[in-house]
Amino acid sequence: MRAVVLREFGPPENLKWETVPTPEPQAGEVLLRVHAVSVDLFQMEFRSGRALQVELPRIMGNGPAGEVAEAAQGVDGITPGQRVVVCNNVSCGICKYCRVGRETLCSGLNNHRGGIIGAHRNGGYAEFVTVPARNLLTLPEAISFEEACLIPNTIGPVVKACAGRARIHPGENVLIIGAGGGMGLHAVQMARACGGRVIAAIRSTRTSEAVLKSGADIVFTTKEHDLSEEVRRLTDGWGADVVLDFVATRETLSASLTALAPAGRLVIMGYFPRGSVLETPTWVFSEEVEVTGNRSAGRQDVAEAIALIQNGRIKPVVGKVFALKDAVKAHQAFEAGEIIGRAVLVV
Ligand SMILES: [Zn+2]
Repeated sequence: MRAVVLREFGPPENLKWETVPTPEPQAGEVLLRVHAVSVDLFQMEFRSGRALQVELPRIMGNGPAGEVAEAAQGVDGITPGQRVVVCNNVSCGICKYCRVGRETLCSGLNNHRGGIIGAHRNGGYAEFVTVPARNLLTLPEAISFEEACLIPNTIGPVVKACAGRARIHPGENVLIIGAGGGMGLHAVQMARACGGRVIAAIRSTRTSEAVLKSGADIVFTTKEHDLSEEVRRLTDGWGADVVLDFVATRETLSASLTALAPAGRLVIMGYFPRGSVLETPTWVFSEEVEVTGNRSAGRQDVAEAIALIQNGRIKPVVGKVFALKDAVKAHQAFEAGEIIGRAVLVV
């Protein structure tokens, strides 16, 4: 089969278009014919060697969408031709986190028992990939493969952040920092679907149209306004009930805390620099605010995202489609900030 192979961590040009053996599904696995896989920040971090140190070569690509080509013997309820999307985490299913549906915290994710598809084991930058059958969720006909491949990495995590971690209630003020990014545009939609009033902070006006189209009530740029002051002004001095920080630098994290209303919830979703320590002001105690993180999406979040898309509450924002063999160009476009929404590789 044809695949994009990473043999050495580094720049986009290290992604090589090669012919490799087609994998065979082992017990409990299916062979997936990949149709689409999205390009995201995790993949940039992984390719450059900043995210995880794993043995190379590796075929990247978490969260692919496609059709079941073949199921290993003993795999029940899955038939060839079935349209599916693949959840990222190969979790153990038996640890205390897996048992309560929080498999993104599974203790097996970073060892030989499990891992992230496209990082610890081969992913969807290929014509075929083998994945555990229990990582599949069926895709309704109404959702295209190009849209579906945004669900595991982008839409699922923001569904979890808004409905789960932040518990957005109708009428609450929701500040989204980095609203113009691939995650941000979908978070705007999800925060609206939860009934929030969305205040979107973006770096430049380039993405303002897309942010408004996604349903933001108010958009401002952090070049022209002080983040926390502007949020106070827009909320009659109270601050934001929820802050989703997709940028997560020392500066935005500090502004996020300052912008929170009493009983507010800050959800951190960015790749903040390693070792950065968030100063905890006294009002975290006195105003009972919550600070939490949001890792990848679990099966339940992916299932909810599928339903929200099917019901028209969320529209996946596919910014540009590339052929798989042009993965280098897709990574270059991502790093140059040329993509609005997500870039998608099609096979
Ligand atoms: Zn587990």
